[in-house]
Amino acid sequence: MSFDPPSSETRMLLQTVGAFVREELIPLERPFLRHDFNTLLPLIEEKRQLAKRLGLWLPQIPETYGGMGLSLYDHGLVSELLGRTPLGHYALNCQAPDAGNMEILIEYGTPEQKERFLMPLLAGDVRSCFSMTEPENAGSNPTWLSTTAARDGDDYVIDGHKWFTTAADGAAFAIVMAVTDPAASRYRRASMIIVPTDTPGFHIVENTSVMGERGQGWASHAEIRYDGCRVPQANRLGEEGAGFAIAQQRLGPGRIHHCMRWIGICERAFDLMCRQATLRELAPGRTLAEMGPVQNWVAESRAEIDAARLLVLQTARKIDAEGAYAARDDISLIKFHTAGVLQNVLDRAIQIHGAMGMTDETPLAFWYRHERAARIYDGPDEVHKWSVARRILSRYA
Ligand SMILES: Cc1cc2nc3c(=O)[nH]c(=O)nc-3n(C[C@H](O)[C@H](O)[C@H](O)COP(=O)(O)OP(=O)(O)OC[C@H]3O[C@@H](n4cnc5c(N)ncnc54)[C@H](O)[C@@H]3O)c2cc1C
Repeated sequence: MSFDPPSSETRMLLQTVGAFVREELIPLERPFLRHDFNTLLPLIEEKRQLAKRLGLWLPQIPETYGGMGLSLYDHGLVSELLGRTPLGHYALNCQAPDAGNMEILIEYGTPEQKERFLMPLLAGDVRSCFSMTEPENAGSNPTWLSTTAARDGDDYVIDGHKWFTTAADGAAFAIVMAVTDPAASRYRRASMIIVPTDTPGFHIVENTSVMGERGQGWASHAEIRYDGCRVPQANRLGEEGAGFAIAQQRLGPGRIHHCMRWIGICERAFDLMCRQATLRELAPGRTLAEMGPVQNWVAESRAEIDAARLLVLQTARKIDAEGAYAARDDISLIKFHTAGVLQNVLDRAIQIHGAMGMTDETPLAFWYRHERAARIYDGPDEVHKWSVARRILSRYA
């Protein structure tokens, strides 16, 4: 597959995004790494307003919904630049989990659901979360859920226990996966239901501590109890039993977003490692860059990042041209491959920084703590390898 160079319009956009990241967002890193998220919100909000004024808002969303209407490929290029700093995606309102929720609301939302839930999300006035994984059941089997939504008159009454609901703290609503028909076949058992977080019975138990950090606001992962949460059936997305199918659709483009964000993190880590290697002297006049192991890490990282980037962009092109289903093998390949490259590159960058790599002087330690999860969320490595290998091998059987 060949890559046409980005159009002149896209090149200009990338220049603007690159400058925005460098001049407006990277200076926010120090305060972001030292303070809690809510303290920093007014400053982050200023940057979001600036992004709007610069025409950089909602790059992933169709123009009819007020977005920039970029192809997945072009959004991937933008996402790569935004990934260079922890607040990049948030500043342009294309952050997980809201970006995925916007997509499914656009695709499956009724006019009333769009008016009440989608529009404030697109405007950046509220945040949302996606509540599927349960502590008691293996999340890697998404058809195995204990949370139920029982019909009662025109309502559903939801009972269940979820955790790792990213960004639930301060969110206006959750999209919850719950079993609506336990007797149905595995893939038709669950539905997605919108639950405003002020619904009686919605309780955040706590923000779960992740590698020692509980986080706050958008930068957190909550454990939640749904105790007799009553919402109208009109809050269901799509038809009853379509939850699994909608979740699959939510993950296709989302994996390009994540992978290109990870490539952005890799590029930043690579810059930091090379700069440190050339600046840090082991003895007067003798820098780290002269050491064989450091040279190996630089060469290996460059090759791994470039290869992963091409694989992800090729997949984005394929999804743009043929849809996510046609690209399902590629989507699995990029998910585990890029997550592995990210982990290797971050580890080498930290090693090159020595003790400083363990501090918050750079974003490396933050990413190392939080992006270890890249090999777990949106499908653990092993599940992607298992499913892609089975499909490949079946063609030989
Ligand atoms: C930072 C973070 C954010 C998250 N955000 C959200 C969110 O917003 N909303 C949400 O609903 N969930 C979220 N999750 C949950 C995530 O989707 C699950 O952790 C993931 O699906 C794996 O499920 P599990 O943790 O129950 O692991 P399990 O299913 O118990 O799997 C444990 C391990 O078993 C192995 N394994 C599993 N299946 C196979 C197989 N077929 N073959 C071989 N090995 C296998 C893998 O190594 C896997 O890591 C998040 C998780 C993290 C860490």
